[in-house]
Amino acid sequence: MVNYQPFLSKDTSLLKTSEIRDLLKLTEGREVISLAGGLPDPTTFPAEDIRRIADDVIKEESAQALQYSTTSGVLSFKKELVNLSKMRGISSISEDNIFVTVGSQEALFMIFNIFIDKGDYVAVENPSYLAALNILRARQPNFIGIDVDPKNGTNLDQLETKLRQMKQENKKIKMFYVIPTAQNPAGTTMKLEDRKRLLELASQYDFIIMEDDAYGFLVFEGDSPAPLKALDKEGRVIYTSTFSKILSPGLRLGWVVAETDVIKEMEIYKQNVDLHTPTLSQYIAREAIKRGVIMNNLPKVKNTYIEKRNVMLQAIEENFPKEAKWSRPVGGMFVFAWLPKGIDTTKMLEKSMANGVAYVPGSSFYYDYSGKNTMRLNFSYPSKEQLRRGIETLGKVIKEELSA
Ligand code: PMP
Repeated sequence: MVNYQPFLSKDTSLLKTSEIRDLLKLTEGREVISLAGGLPDPTTFPAEDIRRIADDVIKEESAQALQYSTTSGVLSFKKELVNLSKMRGISSISEDNIFVTVGSQEALFMIFNIFIDKGDYVAVENPSYLAALNILRARQPNFIGIDVDPKNGTNLDQLETKLRQMKQENKKIKMFYVIPTAQNPAGTTMKLEDRKRLLELASQYDFIIMEDDAYGFLVFEGDSPAPLKALDKEGRVIYTSTFSKILSPGLRLGWVVAETDVIKEMEIYKQNVDLHTPTLSQYIAREAIKRGVIMNNLPKVKNTYIEKRNVMLQAIEENFPKEAKWSRPVGGMFVFAWLPKGIDTTKMLEKSMANGVAYVPGSSFYYDYSGKNTMRLNFSYPSKEQLRRGIETLGKVIKEELSA
């Protein structure tokens, strides 16, 4: 058989597989409680509403809904996205500021490819969302890592120091990729005053911000703080969010809010990638917004996740060693744990899997693969019973590792 490796383009050989997906493959068909995934709880999908909507759309609008559509998104859907974005406090925008994507993953892929060249300085939270880091890695930028602290969140003092130093060396950060709300994986949420400060820094040092608001609608404790985009007076923020956690990830729908100049670049790019986002998904989600399905379903989603988060936190409290630290996320689907230094969670994974529990070693979320003592734990998908048993086993594995 042909060996395809020597035929691969240089760009392709730079792409990394997602460690999480590789890991999930190992758990397939095995009796393993997986705290490694990132799947929403399927009981939160408003399946019956979606069935009715799909039925109506195909009955009444099949000529359009099953047809090709425009690259930036179906106009009537973009109008609803303006309304949805307003619920996050993003006002003074029109449908011209909206771009529809195949999940927010495609938005990140496009934006990083449109803006980032080899050697550019790109700031990322350390840790940050693995699949975004992997896209960026392929762009070969110079990463500037900004630490995320379990208590104080993203360290803006550190960012400011770096910006000042770099200015003296005539260097400039081009973009900061940031997840201000229910950060994946660290579980932190940026305070309002920090959001304002970040925008001031962006203005002062002239960089753009890629804001990933994947969990903005999924804050289950307290109010969800205004996204950076809602506070952005200079059009510096490119915002993305997703239907994956509030309706269904299988529809593969995300959207971007940005200045029209950015939208135009995305249009050219997407024409080359996939022409447009599936029309049928857009019609279904449009109706889900219009008929109030999303807003009516959100309390159920939030209840499901806060209950599961509480079960996980309680189990961690009871089973993890006292020296460990962990996040107390107000939204999203993950708890992040910082174990005592000296524990290597990548090495410990095999033992943990042998004991029937999988997690994601935290180093994959660090651009420099540091954070060897950290781990990400998913609470959205496993049952409460699995969460309890999984954490209990994991606690034992960690304590054994500590005394080894
Ligand atoms: N950003 C973050 C922070 C995420 O956690 C995810 C999904 N895990 C995504 C983006 C991408 O999600 P989707 O493509 O389903 O919108």
